[in-house]
Amino acid sequence: MPKLCPSQPLLETAQRSGVAIAALNFYNAETLIAHIGAAKSLNASIILQTTESTINYLGLNMIVGMATAAAEEIEQPIALHLDHGGSYDLAARCIDHGYTSVMIDGSKLSFADNIALTRRVAELAHSNDVSVEGELGHVTHNDEISGDDITKFYTRAEDAAEFVKETRVDALAVAVGTAHGFYKGKVRLDFDRLTQIKKAVGSTALVLHGGSGVPKELVRRAIECGIAKINFGTELKDAFTRGVKQSLCDTDEIDLRKTFMPAIEAVRNVSIEKISLCRGY
Ligand SMILES: [Zn+2]
Repeated sequence: MPKLCPSQPLLETAQRSGVAIAALNFYNAETLIAHIGAAKSLNASIILQTTESTINYLGLNMIVGMATAAAEEIEQPIALHLDHGGSYDLAARCIDHGYTSVMIDGSKLSFADNIALTRRVAELAHSNDVSVEGELGHVTHNDEISGDDITKFYTRAEDAAEFVKETRVDALAVAVGTAHGFYKGKVRLDFDRLTQIKKAVGSTALVLHGGSGVPKELVRRAIECGIAKINFGTELKDAFTRGVKQSLCDTDEIDLRKTFMPAIEAVRNVSIEKISLCRGY
């Protein structure tokens, strides 16, 4: 039975095959069931990830227990990743509890402080066979910022080269035009910049945050330019919430296993679409 594995070998396999790995956020048992169903139906590896909010909601023991059990349901290896870890302590707690991959997000710190924090987390993680993702530049939220303002947060290739060398991260989240949440206008990605960054970081995997709502052709091109992991959260949350709403409006049923089922199916369909897209379909 496969256990949870670090994300590094999954990223390496994806890069070798010229595809990306889908990193799907889960929030509760229902969304986890949906992702595992999707991965199973496509016989695909995925990265399951949670933010700190989900950790506060479910608790680390529950998350690791559920994800470990989920890994046994499918043949392909999967990783459990901390998304946007905000501190060394949180990353350490996740590593202690059995996460196999952590992101440390120092993107709001100065370049030097981001390097120092990320390096500390990378040292701890690697000594526990856990993979690490850092972030350089800053991936904003669509509610905070729009238009040309976003470009000032973009990752610079020369900084990226120094960052990966100094921190030894396995993966680097880059700011090249995507943002978190729903996009309000047209999505524009700076592919020239992405190509330069990939050249600068060598075999380090590049990560695209804010994958929800990015048109398929742009996702495909981003993968061609070197993106190896794509994060999806907003569309999954949206599918679940709409599914539950619809279900509750349609019937007075109080058996929540029945009311949640259409929502699980809706999320599974989105997950299938995203995993397929990452694999080039
Ligand atoms: Zn993100």
